[in-house]
Amino acid sequence: MDNYQPVIGLEIHVELKTKAKMFCQCPADYFGRPPNSQTCPVCLGLPGALPVPNQKAVAYTHLIGRALNCCLNQTSKFDRKHYFYPDLPKGYQISQYDQPLCSDGKIKFHGSDSWHRIRRVHIEEDTGKLIHQGNETLIDFNRSGVPLMEIVTEADFATSDDVKIFLEQLQMLIRDLEVSDADMEKGSMRFEPNISIQDTENQLPSYKVEVKNINSFRFVKQAIDHEIKRQIEILAKGETPAQETRGFDENKSVTHSQRIKEEAHDYRYFPEPDIPPMSFDQTSIQKIEDSLRSKSTFDNRRTFLIDKCKLNNENAFIIAMDRGKFLFFTACLPLVDEEIIPKMANIIVNKPQLMQGVSSAIFVEKAQKMFRLKPIDDNQLAQVIGKVLIDNPKAVEDYKKGKQNAVNVLVGQVMKEMKGQADAQSVRKKIEEKLK
Ligand code: ZN
Ligand code: MN
Repeated sequence: MDNYQPVIGLEIHVELKTKAKMFCQCPADYFGRPPNSQTCPVCLGLPGALPVPNQKAVAYTHLIGRALNCCLNQTSKFDRKHYFYPDLPKGYQISQYDQPLCSDGKIKFHGSDSWHRIRRVHIEEDTGKLIHQGNETLIDFNRSGVPLMEIVTEADFATSDDVKIFLEQLQMLIRDLEVSDADMEKGSMRFEPNISIQDTENQLPSYKVEVKNINSFRFVKQAIDHEIKRQIEILAKGETPAQETRGFDENKSVTHSQRIKEEAHDYRYFPEPDIPPMSFDQTSIQKIEDSLRSKSTFDNRRTFLIDKCKLNNENAFIIAMDRGKFLFFTACLPLVDEEIIPKMANIIVNKPQLMQGVSSAIFVEKAQKMFRLKPIDDNQLAQVIGKVLIDNPKAVEDYKKGKQNAVNVLVGQVMKEMKGQADAQSVRKKIEEKLK
């Protein structure tokens, strides 16, 4: 087994939360709507209809691209990707081929040991939806033309666990940036892992297997694990797995062959003649940077909790990971004294049940009662500091002689007298002020 090294890459499709579809004015929110009630000549692919790109969808794709540290390309264009299937009446999908909106990114998510390279992020249109009923197949075109962002990674993943961590954090990022609900049950986030096995050193595999349209973190892990096992069995017999596209059977947790994988030339890509190429200047790229900085992302939340609220790394991580917890925590901030904010965080992390179904005000009240969290009485603290300085003349003298560490003894004494209610950092500050 040790000689076999899995090589895994990902394609992720995400439906963007714009009002209108990608190339027409029909509403993009199709979920639960009567079939074919949100269509027009453009998204039905009728001859002569002209597509007009949705600027918001382009901006959303740029935003995700920047968050993944991609380069936002100054010029970009749309291309036709041809294939024949009933969910695509035009006979081609408007997508992007050699000039995507974003390219060459990399990201290291929390919990992952390594950076993962992002090959590209581009925009395309979703297809209609086929509904199979017995011997009949029905088509609903409400989904046809919904903006679809595609994120393509390099084959940098070696385990299904690493893939799962990546996808979970990517989902959080997409939700934080509010470009999509990334709801897998509704199909607004879908995964296509490609898997191959490297069996000889320094030589890349000569084939690649792609698993289509997986819609849960658990299934993507199962599909990858099944593929790794299946491919190693073939390689162990001295054979090479076929280059193909496979489907995932959710009930049996296995993959099965669907079709021999297409090559790019099979799609006969060519530039979309109805949409002029796009160009982006420095100002519009700067706008994307600015809006990224103003968003509540995991990194921004974590930095705020550590720098502004003085939380320890662990609590900052846990609260920043959960947007609901973070919002609750920040709602409590104006209600409590600065010194007890880190303790408040402790309670939110360790006793989350106290937050259930109550307002932040009631939570703060409960927490203060249960844990005797009282804002520090400044007079009391000043008195205690005065007493400790008198009781510890040696430490005071050492400090005055330049021994900075002597202050630790004094801080410890004050904390003991205050029964841990005070915050060590502010106690230290107050003692140093007093000594000067
Ligand atoms: Zn339409
Ligand atoms: Mn695609």
